[in-house]
Amino acid sequence: GGGIDFKEVNFGYAPEKTILKNISFSVGSGKTIAIVGPSGAGKSTIMRLLFRFYDIENGAIIIDGQNIKAVTQASLRKAIGVVPQDTVLFNETIKYNIKYGRIDAEDSEVILASRSADIHDKIMSFPQQYETVVGERGLRLSGGEKQRVAIARTILKSPQILLLDESTSALDTNTERNIQSALSKVCANKTTIIIAHRLSTIIHADEILVLKDGEIVERGQHEKLLEQN
Ligand code: ADP
Ligand code: ADP
Repeated sequence: GGGIDFKEVNFGYAPEKTILKNISFSVGSGKTIAIVGPSGAGKSTIMRLLFRFYDIENGAIIIDGQNIKAVTQASLRKAIGVVPQDTVLFNETIKYNIKYGRIDAEDSEVILASRSADIHDKIMSFPQQYETVVGERGLRLSGGEKQRVAIARTILKSPQILLLDESTSALDTNTERNIQSALSKVCANKTTIIIAHRLSTIIHADEILVLKDGEIVERGQHEKLLEQN
């Protein structure tokens, strides 16, 4: 599951002030799409509409063949996982931090999620420098490692759709690239991913939409867009 269709979606926060103009795109189940554009282009607005934080004036948003108008916000929240920009971690082990939100998870599931996000070697450490349960020094985590914890936490909840908002990311481009390719690998064919970003150069996605002032001005595969820009 997790296929998404936006059909001629128009939306504004205030009457007569359209923010999104005629947005149409499809993401196949298990595919990754990136929405790229400058701040204010409308990337977060598209993500908010997926949760029905706002209802659209015209057009339709379809998930797995069903218009989300007929789906409750609660079930949308279950189906869609968000990896936040900045994850605040508890002063507990990384393992606890990954399980947070699914405290019933089996160890085998936690191991799988943490391996997938490439943070498994640190699950008994603490996010800050503290004594760990085994009496070793805990490692301070880098920004990239914190995001891997957030990804492992999201993967553990096995959402059908995963949103990765990198639009104000402070990570270096190499770390971002690694995280995106790790994520695509883990989620391949299982989870549909939407990535929001300012730049198209670092994106790892099946398709890229370039958004400007609420309009899709370009779309295509990575290499093609790079040639043009
Ligand atoms: P991006 O995520 O690409 O930076 P946003 O979707 O946050 O862009 O914003 C798109 C436009 O909508 C901007 O002009 C922004 O000022 C406006 N906007 C965003 N959120 C709100 C809101 N809650 N109320 C009114 N206008 C908003
Ligand atoms: P980034 O460039 O991603 O922010 P950092 O330079 O913060 O990365 O950290 C790089 C590596 O060094 C990480 O693996 C992190 O766990 C480790 N590290 C950073 N600071 C400390 C510290 N004070 N004690 C132990 N390990 C640390």
